[in-house]
Amino acid sequence: MKTELKMPELFASMVFDEETMKARLSVASYESWKTCVTNGETLDISTANEIAEAMKQWAVELGATHFTHWFQPMTGATAEKHDSFIKPSDNGRVMMEFSGKELVKGEPDASSFPSGGLRSTFEARGYTAWDPTSFAFVKEGSLYIPTIFCSYSGHALDKKTPLLKSMEAVSREAVRILRLFGDTQTKHVMAQVGPEQEYFLIDKKLYNEREDLRMTGRTLFGAKPPRGQEMEDHYFGMIKPRVAEFMKDLDEELWKLGVLSKTKHNEVAPAQHEMAPIYSDANTANDHNQLAMELMKKVADRHGFVCLIHEKPFKYVNGSGKHDNWSLSTDSGENLFKPGSTPSQNAQFLLFLAAFIQGVDEYQEFLRATVATPGNDHRLGAQEAPPAVMSIFLGNELSAVVDAIIQGTEYTDTGKHSLQVGVDVLPDIPQDNTDRNRTSPMAFTGNKFEFRMLGSSQSIAGPNIVLNAMMAESLSQYADRLEKADDFMADLSLLIKEVFTAHKRILFDGNGYDDAWIEEAERRGLSNLKSTADALKAYTDDKNEELLIRHGVYIEEEMEARGRIHVENYSAVINIEGRTMVDMINKDILPAVSEYAAELCGRVQTKQAIGAAAGYEEETAKKISALTDELLAASGKLSSDLENIPEDEVEAMHFCHDVIIADMDKARDAADQLELLTDKTYWPFPTYSDLLFSER
Ligand code: ADP
Ligand code: MG
Repeated sequence: MKTELKMPELFASMVFDEETMKARLSVASYESWKTCVTNGETLDISTANEIAEAMKQWAVELGATHFTHWFQPMTGATAEKHDSFIKPSDNGRVMMEFSGKELVKGEPDASSFPSGGLRSTFEARGYTAWDPTSFAFVKEGSLYIPTIFCSYSGHALDKKTPLLKSMEAVSREAVRILRLFGDTQTKHVMAQVGPEQEYFLIDKKLYNEREDLRMTGRTLFGAKPPRGQEMEDHYFGMIKPRVAEFMKDLDEELWKLGVLSKTKHNEVAPAQHEMAPIYSDANTANDHNQLAMELMKKVADRHGFVCLIHEKPFKYVNGSGKHDNWSLSTDSGENLFKPGSTPSQNAQFLLFLAAFIQGVDEYQEFLRATVATPGNDHRLGAQEAPPAVMSIFLGNELSAVVDAIIQGTEYTDTGKHSLQVGVDVLPDIPQDNTDRNRTSPMAFTGNKFEFRMLGSSQSIAGPNIVLNAMMAESLSQYADRLEKADDFMADLSLLIKEVFTAHKRILFDGNGYDDAWIEEAERRGLSNLKSTADALKAYTDDKNEELLIRHGVYIEEEMEARGRIHVENYSAVINIEGRTMVDMINKDILPAVSEYAAELCGRVQTKQAIGAAAGYEEETAKKISALTDELLAASGKLSSDLENIPEDEVEAMHFCHDVIIADMDKARDAADQLELLTDKTYWPFPTYSDLLFSER
């Protein structure tokens, strides 16, 4: 059935979306669902029962036998536990049953999910509750019900709950502002997100030969290949047939699930690609990004590939990120970051722009912390991704506008007079890619901001929670002030000028990869948190805690729990990487180089017996032996340091960052030199050349 469907019928064919609900529910139940979604009301049980019945029938028609509450624990991935619909019937057969209660609420054992201390083991129960703003779907024989996940005592144990709350917060404050501009219609403002997803495709057979890829998702060894990304021929290059097949299959799978997969192309590094969907509300974008990452892996497998979503699978070529395109839109589809064509629209645009600039400046460390993961440490500040310093790129036109407002001077493009908020029309702000600055962590791209620091494997929930909340905070301050203003336009201009002036240090249009910028940023007082170990303290900063608590996104314990989970995760990842390294050194590399050195020594003897020169064999054997000793020592130190990781979580994180990573670098260095000296047939696993050019 699935292959016969063509677009557009294929699209969302596996989604219990609004159209399907309309067709399959009574008018009353459909209306109740709609009110529940638009006004955030709870669903009564009789409606829930009817929806559950309709959903089950629909899902069974599509071949589903099971249902699952699908949730997003604080690991950043998704979780699911499947129950079948079957219920024994009198005649010894079964019926398919699914009740409103089962739709609305589930009770998975929460004890094995990270809670950061929010749930003691005697309260292992966790609850999942249907998120009716996100559609259910059928995948692999199960009905998937998107849910939030919380503990017995009601603490959020997931990433969806706070995301939804942050969306509510920014909506509430944005609507207050819109009222001041005379908008009486808008009920909700929705955060809109389009996440661009980068990934690598590697041949499955080669992948299986590397323990590091299997255990950690990245290569822990590998000498620089003769060819990397120097040729610059891969970016937007022709897509190889097997990859094209994969992409086609992936698109189909995503489309069936209602994911608006739009763009696909080759990325900068060999074997690297990107998929970008059309943007949607932040909650849906977050669900869909999780589905996209999952399906990339599953579909790759069918094509004999492995999809690597790690931030830095390979040294020497670019790693993978995720660009989080973010904007705000009213319920009637008006983009609040679109510079309008009338003076009044522009005053409103400038106020939202001011709110964003203020938010990024005030919460720069928090935003930085939301993208802090051990994988992303390999990218940020490494000349291939934005620096670890936060700044905003506005582009020539908008920068000139902001300058003119700050200075009160003449804005040249408009001619005669200085640019006045609410009086003048803004110049055209280009919405194309001509004025792109790829080195900026936060770029205005015509009608949205592109947050470019995210790692490819992370959930987009965290960064969007902070973007929404910081925006809610600036907007609420402005609403408090402007609601009391006697002369709205006069106070508005003053406010915009004040904000631009106070926060202009965060604006930077130049080259973010330039060392001079890092110095300049320091002079401006911008923070430069170089690693995850430095950045994570933002989670316990009072100012940041207050932001999320004030806007109802978290309560204090929830926020602290999240910080703790990131800290623990950091050490856990580094620990696994360290152990995998030791394992590969002991079981793969040392035996291989020892064997090869012995072989060379044998050849030396044979050659010398006939009086022949054995310079190459002797030299190489000596070099290999010296490096082998170096590797042995480095691995010994790494092993013993891994045994001595401090108990305290924060100390452990710093120890992993300062000591374990340095040990790993040293071991890798010796191993990579050995790779270059060793006969290919002796080297125990595929090299970078094999892996990076394995797509055919
Ligand atoms: P590029 O790769 O040049 O950055 P793409 O077109 O590939 O650009 O990706 C841009 C992403 O931004 C897409 O996911 C797109 O849907 C999304 N996007 C476009 N407009 C908005 C908007 N107003 N709000 C949020 N995201 C948007
Ligand atoms: Mg982009």
